[in-house]
Amino acid sequence: MSQYTPPIRDMQFVLHEMFNAESIFKSIPAFNEIDADTMNQIMEEGGKFCSEVLQPLNAIGDSEGCTLNKADHSLKTPTGFKEAYQQFVEAGWASLSCDPNYGGQGLPVTVNQAFYEMMNSANQAWTMYPGLTHGAYDCLHEHGSQEQKDLYLPKLTSGEWTGTMCLTEPHCGTDLGMLRSKAEPQADGSYKITGAKIFISSGEHDMAENIIHLVLARLPDAPVGTKGISLFLVPKFIPNADGSLGARNPIFCGAIEHKMGIHGNATCQINLDGASGWLIGQPHRGLAAMFVMMNAARLGVGMQSLGLTEVAYQNAVVYAKDRIQGRSLTGPKSADKPADSILVHPDVRKMLLTTRAYAEGGRALCMWTALELDKELSHPDEAVRKEASEMVALATPIVKAFITDNAWEATSHCMQVYGGHGYIAEWGMEQYVRDSRINMIYEGTNTIQSLDLLGRKVLGDGGAKLMKFGKMVRVLCEAEANNPAMKEFIEPLADLGDKVSKLTMEIGGKAMQNPDEVGAAAVDYLRVVGHLFYAYFFAKAAKIALEKQASGDKFYTAKLHTARFYFQKMLPETAMLIRKARAGSATLMEMEADLF
Ligand SMILES: Cc1cc2nc3c(=O)[nH]c(=O)nc-3n(C[C@H](O)[C@H](O)[C@H](O)COP(=O)(O)OP(=O)(O)OC[C@H]3O[C@@H](n4cnc5c(N)ncnc54)[C@H](O)[C@@H]3O)c2cc1C
Repeated sequence: MSQYTPPIRDMQFVLHEMFNAESIFKSIPAFNEIDADTMNQIMEEGGKFCSEVLQPLNAIGDSEGCTLNKADHSLKTPTGFKEAYQQFVEAGWASLSCDPNYGGQGLPVTVNQAFYEMMNSANQAWTMYPGLTHGAYDCLHEHGSQEQKDLYLPKLTSGEWTGTMCLTEPHCGTDLGMLRSKAEPQADGSYKITGAKIFISSGEHDMAENIIHLVLARLPDAPVGTKGISLFLVPKFIPNADGSLGARNPIFCGAIEHKMGIHGNATCQINLDGASGWLIGQPHRGLAAMFVMMNAARLGVGMQSLGLTEVAYQNAVVYAKDRIQGRSLTGPKSADKPADSILVHPDVRKMLLTTRAYAEGGRALCMWTALELDKELSHPDEAVRKEASEMVALATPIVKAFITDNAWEATSHCMQVYGGHGYIAEWGMEQYVRDSRINMIYEGTNTIQSLDLLGRKVLGDGGAKLMKFGKMVRVLCEAEANNPAMKEFIEPLADLGDKVSKLTMEIGGKAMQNPDEVGAAAVDYLRVVGHLFYAYFFAKAAKIALEKQASGDKFYTAKLHTARFYFQKMLPETAMLIRKARAGSATLMEMEADLF
């Protein structure tokens, strides 16, 4: 049975010591009363809810899964899920970062994100119900009409109603331009929507009284492709003007998918049989509106994998300290016992430190991105908002793909630390491995994220956004150039910064001759840039740890060890990745299709 302790100390380090969140919030009028103590209190209280309420339901959710009653289309979530959700709503957790105009608490996104890391560590499958709701809230908040906002946002804010995103159809996942669901205009301004959606997370359940589906469909006069997609709001129960529940809308769950992980979350086939829907935003502009939800979800998926990395690490460390097996290569460390703990073995340490570095690097990346998002959404200065929006755009595919790829590796390492005990269900580690795998697939596969990064975010603007990040790297390198204690961090960071510039120019040049060069390099390229971000964050962390380690607080000693491990044992991966990215597309594309 696994356990979870919220990593409050490291969250505080990242928020207060690395990024000085309080000073950022002071520059934003809406948040200028949010100080470090307020953030700490929320994280501590939120952490209790996660470890005491959600964590004990994680294994139950995995073993029970969801059950559909095909006769009445109702869906039962695992034991305890509904009650935990009630507690979540009653405590106000759903509304943390929502707009006070609709009943929200108006706190920064960053605070909400810290809470979501802990929820995901405790129970990813459960967390997807409120997580998608929050995405639907964001989308409606930005693109809904005033009437829609007044009717739906208070209920989504409080969590009384939940939300979904209904994009995928059996014949189209990545290529949404092919989607076929239809929307017929009605005399009263509504639409009748018909179609079949698959893989819809949280698509039906018994945790809340209503579900607000955001559905992509085509109007009768829609152009083909992605320019002919519109977005509709399709409630399970059509609300009356006062928010009370009205008629049941014909949008039903036809079946639930049986899948590798996240069993506690209902992945539904959703049939729309002339369901009533209301247009959100402009006709044929649905994909752009849906991108608000998709971008939020991409950051959310990174957060899911960060949560899993952290909880896997915590459990593997406890196991490694306890499990005795073999002797240290340098002689017995526990002579009074028949064997040493497996923590004496270098490779066990390597697996644990790799996971730890992925957790700490991932947390820094997620929190930095969340702070940029707060600036983008709420800073009074337009220039600051614009710059922050560029950083969020650049970081989003990295948060989604780098953290989820790393979590798959990290959870697998943690399973390996348990030996055979990791593979059997009793210890809970195999669930984390299974749960983490989907994060590389949904919300745009990691290949699609890589293409988004290299093709759109980097080459699309001639490298401007990347250069802005590069400037931050350069500023740190120049400031620490004469600090001998920082040499071991700054030299490799500066070197990688140069190499990323050269690699980007080289791929950009080749792509002008042959667009397949982008597709062939993108996945390796994203990992290289992901490492540039982590190297920058670990160098910043190391600087603080060097300055404060004399305090005797062992937190800083451990931080320094992790940073050194990262630079010496993980960052060298970039040399191989750069070679692979430079190797080009020919060997991939020249093989005839019938030879596969
Ligand atoms: C458990 C689960 C929950 C989900 N939840 C939701 C949800 O809530 N709402 C929703 O709408 N959808 C949801 N999905 C769907 C998910 O987002 C899609 O599965 C995903 O986007 C990939 O689409 P696909 O499965 O059709 O794969 P395909 O699009 O068929 O892709 C197959 C492979 O081809 C690659 N590929 C495709 N196109 C390209 C390209 N242009 N360039 C390079 N490579 C390419 C992909 O990367 C992938 O490796 C969920 C899926 C699962 C399994």
